[in-house]
Amino acid sequence: KRRIFLPHLQKMEETYIMIKPDGVQRGLVGEIISRFEKKGFKMTGLKLFKCPQELAEEHYKDLNSKPFFPKLIGYITSGPVVCMAWEGDGVVASARKLIGATNPLQAEPGTIRGDLAVQTGRNVVHGSDSPENGKREIALWFKEGELCEWTPAQAPWLLE
Ligand code: UDP
Ligand code: MG
Repeated sequence: KRRIFLPHLQKMEETYIMIKPDGVQRGLVGEIISRFEKKGFKMTGLKLFKCPQELAEEHYKDLNSKPFFPKLIGYITSGPVVCMAWEGDGVVASARKLIGATNPLQAEPGTIRGDLAVQTGRNVVHGSDSPENGKREIALWFKEGELCEWTPAQAPWLLE
């Protein structure tokens, strides 16, 4: 019996994307979400959220010995953030490309940071740096029941 492979029905790679407080305060939420939407990735989680200190510290624990760590935690907890989970083939690396370099002055035009930001300490958006961290960060920021399994109507037009 022949089996038909339907890529849009398979669970794919996941990444955690977060619009940082400056992105929310500057009214860039729709602009940033639409870049991932238009690319063709699938959103599986979305919430506006005021991040507690401990969660910010856990999220950025690999950077806790850096001199900028206290400022970074202050920044991330300074106002609401938009937490998102996105799914798709190669979504982790592709989202990092859409986001652009950490320092917005070095980020290419056409990237989110290249188009919308000027300083590393106000670089408007976060994206996981590996599939493992994608899973870890989604589990950290979302509770069970907050994520949504669904098949976008456009899936067969996006994935052959
Ligand atoms: N950051 C900073 N100063 C630095 C390096 C990083 O304020 O010299 C902040 C910046 O907001 C960055 C975050 O710390 O996005 C995490 O740093 P990372 O190196 O993981 O960059 P990213 O993965 O966000 O591009
Ligand atoms: Mg990082």
